[in-house]
Amino acid sequence: MNTSEQRIKIALQKSGRLTDRSLELLTRCGLKFTQSKDQLFCYGENMPIDLLLVRDDDIPGLVSDDVCDLGFAGLNVVQEKQLELQQNGSAALFDQVCALDFGHCRLVIAVPEESGYSGLESLRNARIATSYVATLGDFLKRQEIDAEIVYLSGAVEIAPRLGRADFVCDLVSTGSTLAANQLREVQTILKSEVVVIQTRASLCAEKRTWINRLLQRLDGVLQVRESKYVMLHAPRSALDRIVAILPGAESPTIIPLEGDGDKVAVHVVCRENVFWETLENLKSAGASSLLVLPVEKMLA
Ligand code: ATP
Ligand code: ZN
Repeated sequence: MNTSEQRIKIALQKSGRLTDRSLELLTRCGLKFTQSKDQLFCYGENMPIDLLLVRDDDIPGLVSDDVCDLGFAGLNVVQEKQLELQQNGSAALFDQVCALDFGHCRLVIAVPEESGYSGLESLRNARIATSYVATLGDFLKRQEIDAEIVYLSGAVEIAPRLGRADFVCDLVSTGSTLAANQLREVQTILKSEVVVIQTRASLCAEKRTWINRLLQRLDGVLQVRESKYVMLHAPRSALDRIVAILPGAESPTIIPLEGDGDKVAVHVVCRENVFWETLENLKSAGASSLLVLPVEKMLA
């Protein structure tokens, strides 16, 4: 089962904002790998899963062409590829299977601070610089706005200062790059995070089993990230109030305490982070001996 055709190939970003988190997530799913000398390939030692490290923009194409079975990429590049193929009369041969809750950013239209922007109408007949030609084109078409799209592969934010465009359409997370370039965000076109895409090519049973196992583990890793295991003692009479305070709590396990008729121990998994304020509120509600533990693994 370890012939190269039966090994799963996952395309990840080689070096950039998504690389460390992508590798960390896979490691937390139990994957151990060795990286090739040229650092373009990782061989999975304990699972039939190999990693191909490439530019993020190439990931949707590699999965669509069935060179890779899965890819981790920002929704921004995934959607851009889908729309680009669609606008050329073909279709992307992959599906989005889940989101990974990192790499959050927005594709936005921004205007120079001094420019008089008064809504989408201001974009009519303007020049807008972007690397996301298909996504911006699709947005403008849906808004029935005619504008000139100026393609730039990078440094989009300096286009207005260079006189190459009136506005820009670029990715932001905190907005500090826009502010540093005297630009003001006026319209969000897409909210993005890293998603997993899977090829539409038919896969052998062995590969399907491993992909499903990996997706289930990814789901487990994402779920435990914020989850905490909380243990506390409480008088029975205060139980309702205490459970209501616990953030994202599932049904708690209640255990009687030896030699104490009224007090019980409460064990519960909270799906959200437990802050000091929450512990103080629990104490005021009658809880004592509070303990908060991280959750290592979870399988629904
Ligand atoms: P390469 O093409 O060489 O892989 P890149 O320069 O296109 O690298 P990065 O800047 O590392 O890529 O960004 C990769 C992805 O990170 C983006 O496509 C996007 O999904 C996400 N991202 C998150 N925050 C931001 C941000 N503030 N600016 C740009 N991208 C961001
Ligand atoms: Zn890129």
